[in-house]
Amino acid sequence: MGLLLKIILFGVAVYALWKTVARWKGLFDRFIGKPVEPPRPAPQRREAPPPAAPAATSRAPVIDDTRACAVCGAYVSVSAAKCGQSGCPQP
Ligand SMILES: [Zn+2]
Repeated sequence: MGLLLKIILFGVAVYALWKTVARWKGLFDRFIGKPVEPPRPAPQRREAPPPAAPAATSRAPVIDDTRACAVCGAYVSVSAAKCGQSGCPQP
């Protein structure tokens, strides 16, 4: 009689352990492992970017000429009318 009780208890313990492991594994896969992505309705094909001018791509990127602000010394773009630096007294 005691042996049958032990077998039943063992079965219950194994069942509980299995359920616990399965639940934790599901949580692990859900949050850490593979993220469940929602099924996309249709594969979005990105359009090709507009062809840039070959001269612009082959050349080095154009960098704006900078000049040092006469008041605060910060380097600002030549095209900028004002200094633009915060705290600079120059308007
Ligand atoms: Zn300035």
